[in-house]
Order: sequence, then structure tokens, then C-alpha cells
Amino acid sequence: MSAISKELAETLQAEMPFFDFFRNSEWSRRQGDPGNCDFVTGEPQEMALPGFVDALARWVKPGDPHWFGYKTSDPDARAVAAEALSRRVEVDFPPDHLFFTNGAIAGLVVALRAVVDPGDEVIYLSPPWFGYEPMIRERRADAVRVNLQPPVFDLDVPAIEAAISARTRAIIVNSPNNPAGRIYQPAQLQELAGVLERASARNGRPVYLISDEAYSRVLFDGRQFTSPAAFYPRTLLVYTYAKTMLTPGQRIGYIALPPGMPDARLVGEAIFMSQIATGWSFPNALLQHAIADLEEVLIDLHALQNKRDVMTQGLADLGYQVTVPEGTFYVIVRSPLADDMKFIDILAARNIFVLPGATTELPGFFRISLTATMDMIERSMEGFKSALDEARATSRG
Ligand code: PMP
Repeated sequence: MSAISKELAETLQAEMPFFDFFRNSEWSRRQGDPGNCDFVTGEPQEMALPGFVDALARWVKPGDPHWFGYKTSDPDARAVAAEALSRRVEVDFPPDHLFFTNGAIAGLVVALRAVVDPGDEVIYLSPPWFGYEPMIRERRADAVRVNLQPPVFDLDVPAIEAAISARTRAIIVNSPNNPAGRIYQPAQLQELAGVLERASARNGRPVYLISDEAYSRVLFDGRQFTSPAAFYPRTLLVYTYAKTMLTPGQRIGYIALPPGMPDARLVGEAIFMSQIATGWSFPNALLQHAIADLEEVLIDLHALQNKRDVMTQGLADLGYQVTVPEGTFYVIVRSPLADDMKFIDILAARNIFVLPGATTELPGFFRISLTATMDMIERSMEGFKSALDEARATSRG
């Protein structure tokens, strides 16, 4: 006799290492203690940007009686966001091809629901963001993992091609990538588009590309981001404002369909229905009213890059193997002990908290979030040094 849905019971089981860390680790017990150097999540650790607060204050005053009425995707907000997106990625997205969602999480769930059937296969690239597999399972589809190769974890088109079957319906691609910080290059995306076109023709059924572009504006060293939508018209582009504004508790993002997507009208209707069916997955009215101002709010990328440099250079100087990210908030580091769970205990004893790779299909590594303060980064160096010494002594002993 099962008290809950069998499907959710299975998903919970599969995600246990991740949820266990968030609920039962030393970090979960000591989160928020003043002496901590907390590098675990991409949560904000500094006060919200003034531009964000001002925008909400400006638009909270109702402009008409319907101001706080039910909102799907507001036409004015669609026009603003489609124009800004088109300018950034150099693809002309029509406003009615843009569907506002509660951030990328709802965008991904809604996108999967709109095009994937139970029993289909959905490819994801590993190491992944933790949400993909449960979302695919929730759709009762099979998650097919393609491993990317350390230390760079670049897009591996031949490995993806080898994983495609007659049941493949979609692939989730995330660039700039969490956790690896890699930006996939135009030539690779073009090659992938060719592979997906051929697979669609062979299968007699389109394969969709779900492009998770959560970090598309979080780029370092003046790098450019290219959307797969520039090469593959059956792309569902998923965006969130949470990373550029560092406000993940105020939920807004969207799904956008490129102008050349075949059956775009039908896919749009499926997205709309899926938004209703998943519990009115539209952002609150206030966030949509404020969108023209919110489009302008951007975290200080110069300061973020500076944090990246201090962190990566500092760790490399101590003797850690670090992958320098091209974008995102994250840095991945090889654990000096093969068992990264053991090493994070050594760090936790020094008030340093990082995300163990074992929780996100990245055993032998750990992940650092640069949303920590510069003070934490600087303070942590001594602890990182003595933790490395202890790990070396442990593995010798
Ligand atoms: N995709 C990736 C790769 C992410 O890192 C995150 C958040 N950490 C999300 C999606 C979810 O974004 P949001 O909370 O804005 O929905």
C-alpha cells in the first residue's frame, strides 16, 4: 500500500543524494552562521540591486482596474521581452512566440509537457543541473544521459548522436553550462542542428531542442553567447530573469520559439495549455508590468568576474585543479580526495561549504558558487589551504 504516487516515490528515490545534502548535511544545519564561507548555491548573499527594487515600486501602483487581474502573457510585456531577446541573440522572435513562465523551472516543465509524450526519450548532458531528470521522469519519459568529458565538459556532438534512438523526442542543452561554466560554440551548435535534423527525418517525428539559457547574459572576458535557436528552428528557448537580476524568489522567465519553427502555432497552443495544466504557470502581474525596467537590471558582471579570478587563481596557486568558467556563477574544482563527500567534511570543519559533486553526477569534484561575497572568498583561502594539506596527509596515510 503506497501513501503517495508511485512515480513521485521513484523520483524521490533517484534524487536522494541531492535532497539529502540539502536537508541533512552539515551545511543544512549550519546555514546562515556568521562565520561561514558559503559557496553552495546560486542564491543571492548581498542586498538586491537598487534598479530591481525601484522597478517593482514603480509598477506596483495600478494603472487600470484590471492591473492585478488574471494574467497570461501580457502583450506589452511580450513585445518588450521579444525585442530584447531578438537583439541579444540575433534571431527575430515574434512577440506572440514568447510565453512568460515562472522562471526557467516552469519553462522547462511546460516545454517538456508541450512536446514530450510518456514513453519518449529525452537526452540530457551530464553533469547536469539537478532538475532535468526529475522533470523528465515527471513527464513519464525516459531520461537518457550523455556524459561530457572533464575537465572542460564541452558539448560532445558524436556522443549525442550515438545516444539518439527512434524514441528520442527532445534534448536539453544548457549553455553557458551549470556546473561546468562552458559556452558552446556556434560550429558545435550547427553540427548538433544537423544531427537533430537527420534524426527527425529518420524517425519521421521531430526531435526538439530545449535550450536552457538561464545564464545567457552571465558571460566573462567579453565572450559572446550563441543560442542553438540560431541554427535549429525546432528549439524551445527557455530563459529566466533570476540570474541576471539575482532574484530567484521573484519568478519570471519565458519560453520563446524561433520564427522559423514548423508548427509554431500548434506548439504555442500546447505551451499555453500546459501552463494552465501545471497550475497557472504564468508570472505574477506585477513582474510582467515591470518588464521593460527589469530588462535593464543586470548584476555587476565586472565584480562577478573579479570574484571568479580571485577564487580560481587563489585555488590554483594553492595546488587545486580548477576549471575556469567562461560564464555562469560557478567554478568546478577537482576534489583532492576521490571521495568528494569526505573532502567537503574537511572543508566544513573550516566553515567552508561547497556543493559536493556526488550530488550532481560529478563525483570527484566540488562546485563553488560565486554569489558568495568577496569577503568570503578571501577569508576561505586559508581554510582551503589547510584542507588540502589534510587531504594529502589522509591519502598518504
Ligand atoms: N537551469 C539552470 C541551469 C539553473 O542553474 C537554474 C537555477 N539554478 C535553473 C534552470 C532554474 O532557474 P529559475 O529558478 O530561474 O527557474
